[in-house]
Formats: sequence, C-alpha cells, structure tokens
Amino acid sequence: MFDNLSDRLGNVFDKLKGRGALTESDVREAMREVRIALLEADVALPVVRRFIDAVTEKAIGSEVLKSVTPGQQVVKIVNDELVEMLGGTGEDAEPRELNLNAKPPVVIMMVGLQGSGKTTTTAKLGKLLKEKHGKKSMMASLDVNRPAAQEQLKVLGEQVDVATLPIVPGQQPVDIARRAMEAAKLQAADVLLLDTAGRLHVDEALMAEMKAISTVSAPTEVLLVVDSLTGQDAVNVAQSFTGEVPLTGVVLTRMDGDARGGAALSMRYVTGKPVKFAGTGEKLDAIEAFDPSRVAGRILG
Ligand code: GDP
Repeated sequence: MFDNLSDRLGNVFDKLKGRGALTESDVREAMREVRIALLEADVALPVVRRFIDAVTEKAIGSEVLKSVTPGQQVVKIVNDELVEMLGGTGEDAEPRELNLNAKPPVVIMMVGLQGSGKTTTTAKLGKLLKEKHGKKSMMASLDVNRPAAQEQLKVLGEQVDVATLPIVPGQQPVDIARRAMEAAKLQAADVLLLDTAGRLHVDEALMAEMKAISTVSAPTEVLLVVDSLTGQDAVNVAQSFTGEVPLTGVVLTRMDGDARGGAALSMRYVTGKPVKFAGTGEKLDAIEAFDPSRVAGRILG
C-alpha cells in the first residue's frame, strides 16, 4: 500500500524516468491512481468521474508533460482542482460564513435525517454565534416525531446557555415555528435556530413538512446536516433535499471519525452549495469552519 497520492504517483512516474516527455496515456495511468484514492475516500462515483475528467484535461494541456518532476506537478494539479471543487480558498473562495444579513430574528433552519447530528449542531451553532459573533440566539425544536427530541434541545440549551422555546406538548411543527418566531421577536433575539424533525429515511411527509416550515419561517439559511461517515447514503439524502427546500449550505458531522472526507466533495457537487462547517466531536464546541485545503489533503490520503 502507498501512504498517499504522492507516493502512488511517484511509483507511476518512476517507471517513465529518462523517457523524456510524458504522454497522454501516462497521465491517464496516473489518473487511475487518483481515481482509486478518491473512491477509497468514499467520493461518489459520478463526482469522481467529473473530477478525473477536469484534472486530465488540465494535466494534458499543461507544461507538466515536459517537467522533470511530473509526479509532483500532477499531485499539485489534482490538489488545486480538489480545493477548488470543495469551494476554494483565499480570495477565490465561495462565501462560507453564515449569512446574518436579514431583519432579526434571522432564521437558520436545520434539516437532515435522524441521527445525523442536527440537534447537537443546532446547540453548537447557538454557542458559536454567542461566543464568536456576539449574537443572541433562540433555539426551537420542531421535532414532534422523536420522543424527547424537544427535551434534548432544552438540555443542550442549558449547557451552552442559549434560550430555548418553552415546550408545548401536542403542538404541530408549523405552529411551533410560528410561536418560535413570535417568541424570538419578543426576546429580541438576533437569530432563531429551528431544529426540524428527521426521519430514518427521506419520505414525502418529511419533505412536505420541511417545505411548510420553510414557507412560514422564511429562513435566511437552510443548513443540511449530514453524517460524513455515511458516504453514498449522504449523497442520496442530499439529492432528496436539493430542490425541495432552499438549501444554503451543508454541515458535515463526525469529521472526527475515520472518514477520509470524501463526502465533502460529493455534497458540494450534488447540492451546489458550500460546505460551511465540520462537526469534529460530541462536545458542544467541536465545530469548525470548513477548510477545503485540509479536507483536500485528507481525501488524497
Ligand atoms: P439528530 O437526530 O440529527 O438530532 O442527531 P443528534 O444531534 O442527536 O446526534 C446523534 C449523536 O451523534 C449524538 O450522540 C451526538 O453526540 C453525536 N454527534 C453529533 N455530531 C457529532 C460530531 O461531529 N462528532 C461526533 N463524534 N459525534 C457527533
């Protein structure tokens, strides 16, 4: 086994030393290694294909073929393209900050499957908004499906010292959303975080509920929370939500697990929206701004 892509490609190009310029077929051989690296990192197949096509075109057309260290140059092209497809860095980066430019309370709606880490992420964001942005938040759980879901958010709210909407048993999600908006206004909250219900699988009832909530609450941000360890499943979830609710970004949880981070590339590709945050643990401060460079390095192994 090779440790990383540089080693793999070094091996490919070593065979070609002293042969002068690399041919198109040499680049294609290198791309086979890149493809394996991406598939091992759990990047979805259509995304791998598109990526390989883009990189092949760049590698063939560039000076790399005449270079003395073609392996390193191909690694650089691969890495640069990966960072770009993950949202870019520096001046060319797509905006990944939360958009808080709306009349308060700014509504942030969290959507995703049950167990993806939605409730935990809601509390993490409440804490982050308070500590890093000086914003006062209110959090409301609209999850009437899972027993104790509303109670769970209340407990987390106490831990991070962020207000939660008082629980009224029997109230339906859309009514809770309306009540939450009133309460957030009354308390002069800057931000209202809506933690919606998940399901074990995406179904029509879930989508109808998400649409209704989004209509009454007019969220500025709709964040899809997905578990980075679920690979292809995460892609299916993203496909189901895209187009149904006005997603503005993705949060990838469990990036502290052993995932190589391929889900990030798939999510960015399938939703067309930026990955904004990475969840890095169970603790309520374990959330980080998404960093394409770091994740690119991880995907390439
Ligand atoms: P929900 O059903 O989508 O609301 O999921 P929860 O927020 O209840 O999270 C399910 C489990 O995942 C809980 O035990 C969380 O502590 C855990 N969890 C959430 N985010 C992360 C993360 O980024 N890393 C790790 N290791 N665990 C997480």
